[in-house]
Amino acid sequence: MSARGLLDVVVVGGGAAGAAAAAALAQSGFDVALVEPSLPTAAATDAPLDARVIALSPASVRFIDRISAWPLAAGRAFAYRDMEVRSGEEILHFGRDLVAEPALGWIVELRALQAAVFAAARSRVVAVHAARVVRCERSEKEARIELDDGTRLRARLVVAAEGGRSLLREASGIAVDTHDYRCRAIVAHLGTEQPNPGMAFQRFLRGGPLALLPIDGGRSSLVWTRPEAEVDALLALDDAAFCEALSAASERRFGAVVASTPRLAFPLRLQLAQRYFDERLVLLGDTAHVVHPLAGLGLNLGLIDAAALVDVLSDARVRVRDIGAAATLSRYDSWRRSDTHAAARAIDLIERGFSGQLGRVGSLLTRGLGLVDAVTPAKRFFASAACGDLGRVPTLARR
Ligand SMILES: Cc1cc2nc3c(=O)[nH]c(=O)nc-3n(C[C@H](O)[C@H](O)[C@H](O)COP(=O)(O)OP(=O)(O)OC[C@H]3O[C@@H](n4cnc5c(N)ncnc54)[C@H](O)[C@@H]3O)c2cc1C
Repeated sequence: MSARGLLDVVVVGGGAAGAAAAAALAQSGFDVALVEPSLPTAAATDAPLDARVIALSPASVRFIDRISAWPLAAGRAFAYRDMEVRSGEEILHFGRDLVAEPALGWIVELRALQAAVFAAARSRVVAVHAARVVRCERSEKEARIELDDGTRLRARLVVAAEGGRSLLREASGIAVDTHDYRCRAIVAHLGTEQPNPGMAFQRFLRGGPLALLPIDGGRSSLVWTRPEAEVDALLALDDAAFCEALSAASERRFGAVVASTPRLAFPLRLQLAQRYFDERLVLLGDTAHVVHPLAGLGLNLGLIDAAALVDVLSDARVRVRDIGAAATLSRYDSWRRSDTHAAARAIDLIERGFSGQLGRVGSLLTRGLGLVDAVTPAKRFFASAACGDLGRVPTLARR
């Protein structure tokens, strides 16, 4: 920190995306403070796996490895080496041989990931403030932030990583485009007659996709998107009836579903900020973009935002430019907004097409699955996209 108490960066929000940005920026030599009201902690080693698990791409794992937040604690991350996508009679299968990676990706406990990334940040940043931002004033020279515990911070740049509901984004007047899917994703951990062999399985159904992701003991973690009108009834089923409904919906891919942990349901929406920067402010993670979980991309996009910001700010520093100047931040904006908006629109098209909202587009997509499966270069292209290796990959996420 400079003698005047001016920080380089204040990161607001210590979820996985914000904490990764704080850790990586501090590791790259910037003076960083991190503000997060609910400090994440890992569960006890013998605690059962939390209901919230997510898929991480190899590119994201390379990034969090380089900020020393990987591997996660034992029993909190599970590699998947095969991926199978079905729609109607068509099947698309990927193996890790297509991508020359040890795995196509990892299913990780979100809580463990947040705790690991937060610990990496804590060990490097100038200060962690267990508080909430209540006010932010930005000028040509600096940003001033006020926390609900009375602390005041000054920085060249503020990173808003507060999740989908962001005080800083709203206060800056950056508008968002939103689409409510009128669906919820039901999540639970399932036991099946046959163990999941390490495969991420997804089946597109009318109304929304169903995914079975490999976790501990041959179990699968469920992400089942259903229209809002059906969700309460599914949540109210007893375990036997819920398992029976899932056995049918999954076409018994790993045999019948025989056990389920308690279910949770998350409302789904698409939300894209129209700009990712303002005066001395950038948005990243869910603050910038919230996408449908069908491609398992939401946090992966947020982590790559964080790695990209490190490249942009490091480059500005080498050129002796102001890291909070519009000319610097617009480079981050054009890189990440174009990549994330393209991904979000593609996911949106897939969701609407396969769920039956776009008429003939759905049958074209279904036929497309079979075609891609038959053409190895096309398969390799989609496998690389799933691994996070397409487009401009930031330095910290590169192979
Ligand atoms: C069912 C489901 C399945 C998903 N599956 C996947 C998947 O397989 N792969 C994937 O990549 N993504 C997945 N996602 C998306 C992923 O969960 C999110 O993209 C990710 O968790 C968002 O992380 P974040 O750090 O941007 O925001 P958050 O995790 O929301 O963190 C924001 C943080 O900011 C803090 N905060 C808020 N306001 C303030 C304030 N005023 N001051 C200070 N701090 C504040 C909060 O306390 C919080 O800790 C899924 C989502 C759902 C719903």
